[in-house]
Amino acid sequence: MQDKPYDKALVWFRRDLRDYDHAALSRALTQSRHVYCVFVFDTDILGTLKDKADRRVEFIWESVRELKTALRDRGGDLIVPHGSAAREIPMLARSLGVQAVFANRDYEPQALARDAAVADALAADGVAFLTFKDQVIFEGDEVLTGDGRPYRVFTFYKKAWLKKVTGNDLVPHPVDEHLAALAAPARPSLLPTLEALGFSRNHLDGLLPTGMSGADRLFEDFQERIDNYHAVRDFPALKGPSYLSVHLRFGTLSIRAVVSHAWYMGSSGAEVWLNELIWREFYFMVLHYHPQVAEGHAYKPEFEHFSFPGSNEYFLAWCEGRTGYPLVDAAMRQLNRTGYMHNRLRMVTAGFLVKDLLVDWRRGEAYFADRLVDFDLAANNGGWQWAASTGCDAQPWFRVFNPVTQSEKFDAEGKFIRRYVPELAPCDNREIHAPWKMAPQRQAQIGVVIGRDYPAPIVDHAVMRAKVLALYKSAGR
Ligand code: FAD
Repeated sequence: MQDKPYDKALVWFRRDLRDYDHAALSRALTQSRHVYCVFVFDTDILGTLKDKADRRVEFIWESVRELKTALRDRGGDLIVPHGSAAREIPMLARSLGVQAVFANRDYEPQALARDAAVADALAADGVAFLTFKDQVIFEGDEVLTGDGRPYRVFTFYKKAWLKKVTGNDLVPHPVDEHLAALAAPARPSLLPTLEALGFSRNHLDGLLPTGMSGADRLFEDFQERIDNYHAVRDFPALKGPSYLSVHLRFGTLSIRAVVSHAWYMGSSGAEVWLNELIWREFYFMVLHYHPQVAEGHAYKPEFEHFSFPGSNEYFLAWCEGRTGYPLVDAAMRQLNRTGYMHNRLRMVTAGFLVKDLLVDWRRGEAYFADRLVDFDLAANNGGWQWAASTGCDAQPWFRVFNPVTQSEKFDAEGKFIRRYVPELAPCDNREIHAPWKMAPQRQAQIGVVIGRDYPAPIVDHAVMRAKVLALYKSAGR
């Protein structure tokens, strides 16, 4: 093992909480004689979370616990400090006496700034900071137009992505065969409890399988369903999508494993699912070339100063699922109760906030960012700007979803609505999409009196549609 360049190295886990097919871990093990591992519960991030029962912290905590056990079983350990990562990593590197810190790249602007600060602090101590591509198949600058510019339209990006990908891009980064280099610190390190981190546990139990084992279970389940994905993915009452977003967010599942499964499978369902994974990379690319979108700027500069007159009351009614539009309310209640929202409904609710309630998309984006367990800056911002027609979208700005038609089409039997808005359960399948249209006698007869048992619609879709079109038009579009 004389040929290894480093005697001691540290692998810094962030959004890659797994012990297989891991670029940084694989490289560290092959290039170093002793490899330590660390995950920091970063106070710079945790301190910004308002909800002390945040589901994401619980998800991470459970996943870190599993990773720590897995690394211990293999002769290593996971050191888990609680503090500012920008300080903890250089301090730990110094105390362990490592010559290099290995990490997988994170593309969010704050993470890039943190990593630059860590790299500087490490460099001052003569320690190398080595980063690797891991959470994507292609990074922001790897899929470009013929003349080297970023794509603006997804379809063209997707074509180029599919043309570029080969089996070599999907090969796992080997870990198992190099495990002998894993090292544990002299003093065993303890995992701080959730309570010690300042958070409480209560929302996840039984709802969301955590860690690598949870990801495996969900992925295995989805493999049975993937061939039918294209046919069922738009119907929120059905078990159509994979529910893997949170695992892709925190890296408890390898992107290479899921992409290669879809790519080699090649069925219609797998092809449509692969499209979604390519959307994920498209939005990473947008963030890479347009980091200003993360600071509240519109992707399309012509919308930069567009002002949205929607009231705070409208916004609150939307947040709380009491707009009087059943599909919108059911979706918002799903988000509030579970931390997840079906993709079709993210489009419907986002469109409704911006185009029916005329509320600034940035407020909706921030609300989703607080609530979604799978919150990902690039995908969330991309989705919101798409919905507001301020972002990357081949469709013109005058696409306005009709919340009733969407409901009739994608939840025809009202099953999803009944699950989250049980007060509407007595309505029949025709009435449930627009219950305010029921005659007063019928409302009294079934015990669903609009305005008493369920809110009257806070806006009239037809009126608001005309208003928003006029607004966008007057803004010169
Ligand atoms: P599946 O249908 O099984 O899709 C597989 C994977 O592909 C997802 O896990 C996700 O990683 C990726 N993906 C799917 N659709 C998209 C998309 N439109 N853009 C980018 N990636 C996609 N996704 C997030 O991961 N985090 C977010 O914060 C987020 N916010 C969104 C906000 C809005 C307004 C909209 C319209 C979409 C948003 N999405 C976000 C995209 C999408 O809704 C979710 O990825 C999807 O619903 C997650 O469920 P799933 O894993 O079952 O998806």
